[in-house]
Amino acid sequence: MKAYRASLLWFAPHSEGPVRALFEEDGLLVVGPNAAGVQVVQAIGAWRDLAGQYPGVAVEHLRGRIIAPGFVDLHVHYPQTNVIGSPADGLLPWLENYTFPEEKRFADPEYSAQAATFFVAELLRNGVTTTLTFATSHPESVDALFTQAQAQSMRLITGLCLMDRHAPPDLLNQASAPGRLDAAEQSLLESEALIQRWHGQGRLGYAITPRFAPTCTEAQLRGAGEMAARYPDVWIQSHVAENKDEIAWARALFPQSRSYLATYDDFGLMRKRAIYAHCIHFDDDDRALMRDTGAAAAISPTSNLFLGSGFFDYAGADRVGFQYGLASDVGGGTSFSPFHTMLGAYYVAREGQTKQGLSLSPQHLWWQHTAGAARALGLDGSSGAPAVGNLLPGCEADFVVLNPKATPLLARKTALAANLDELLFSMIVLGDDRLIERTVISQAI
Ligand SMILES: [Zn+2]
Repeated sequence: MKAYRASLLWFAPHSEGPVRALFEEDGLLVVGPNAAGVQVVQAIGAWRDLAGQYPGVAVEHLRGRIIAPGFVDLHVHYPQTNVIGSPADGLLPWLENYTFPEEKRFADPEYSAQAATFFVAELLRNGVTTTLTFATSHPESVDALFTQAQAQSMRLITGLCLMDRHAPPDLLNQASAPGRLDAAEQSLLESEALIQRWHGQGRLGYAITPRFAPTCTEAQLRGAGEMAARYPDVWIQSHVAENKDEIAWARALFPQSRSYLATYDDFGLMRKRAIYAHCIHFDDDDRALMRDTGAAAAISPTSNLFLGSGFFDYAGADRVGFQYGLASDVGGGTSFSPFHTMLGAYYVAREGQTKQGLSLSPQHLWWQHTAGAARALGLDGSSGAPAVGNLLPGCEADFVVLNPKATPLLARKTALAANLDELLFSMIVLGDDRLIERTVISQAI
């Protein structure tokens, strides 16, 4: 066991009602192995209350530092690390001119391995300890990322990108070599082999990953939905309702479905552990479908602002009551930093011309990128699943050590904070990777 004395930030259990952050100015966090040998939180609270209960446990005193849960990034593309900051005229030209050419390079296992190494290191440097990420349509890209995440003991979920039409030929899933299976059949076979190889290995999880409905044939979507039914604890990830051109395209290709979102439901791809990026242009029937199926939205504010896609409607989501959390969506997103993403979410919620504008509280912004995102993934300890994104006893010991004096302006501003909301909002608005002094990952023993 080991203990850390510092200021502590964590969240009250979801069962206790509305989002509520907890803060202990002089706290003690005790971590140690559970029955399975995984490092988890053993105790958290005031130093004066807990110190006497753990005699003989080494205490690292982190003066002036704040320990907080590791961040959870609900949607990011590891093959788009080099695409970040590429100028383009909206989503579809951006895909054609930058994203597709870069993703082709991931057919090469060595290229994938070096990209995966950089990606995992960059997430950890920014305090992200759990992520759901896209790979490419090449199985090599998936193997490379799982291998690297396993080496770092990082909790990571990814999967083979399913895309058998409407993209450059060498980015599409390929038919089997002797030509016995078409591209849809072969891609599903490859997905299933990757599930067998990686899902549940240590902290790794698999996600069935249709890129988005317009790049998948009906046969591929149907097969993906059937696989999702056979493997109920595997995740599903895709994109929906990001951009109006994309929506018109999806509606033209699947006119029999009630809406773009309903297309996924019609193929069995909406359920718990299904995460849909964006979810901007929804009506209340779409929102109810999210709620009723248990699917969750990966809100990607810096990406939506960068590509001019629109503004996620928080008031609409909360009125109907579906789950959501925050995501960087690099390379459409402009930063790996959860602070930039939380600030982007504040801008998006505040926008009041196309929808109701509201001011999200700092605690709610932070929750969306930690405990809330973990809950959207089903990684909140319910139903026997592991818990991340929080520091309640039993949670996996993934956390960050924040230095609120990391820059002159942060030091000046955080010193003025009169309450927790002011402290958190100072870090959300002014923070970046410099705030993250250390990222600690739960190690199995
Ligand atoms: Zn995306």
